[in-house]
Amino acid sequence: MIYCQNCGNQCADHTRFCPVCGAPLQTSTFQQPNGVYYYQQPVQEDKPETALCVLSFFFWIVGVVLYAVNVSTKPIAARAYLKWGLISVAVNVGLSLLVMLIPLLLTVSSA
Ligand SMILES: [Zn+2]
Repeated sequence: MIYCQNCGNQCADHTRFCPVCGAPLQTSTFQQPNGVYYYQQPVQEDKPETALCVLSFFFWIVGVVLYAVNVSTKPIAARAYLKWGLISVAVNVGLSLLVMLIPLLLTVSSA
């Protein structure tokens, strides 16, 4: 139900003019031709935030969580966070392999 801002009369949702005083009624919803109410959502920019990308890089789990949270609303940004999380995993695995290989390489070269 909506109320007329002019006379305070209670009017049905679909009425555009007050039946008592004839004033146009202001509604927060738009009625589509098919009768379905359409709430206009604020347009969110689908762009990854640099700070969150950096965070995803340092904590890969953050990237995974951000991906799960944003994938339905901001798929482009979500994929960017996941990408940085995966790069982080790759770098970490690469570094730990390197650390494990260094002693091996040193023993091979000294032998
Ligand atoms: Zn009225």
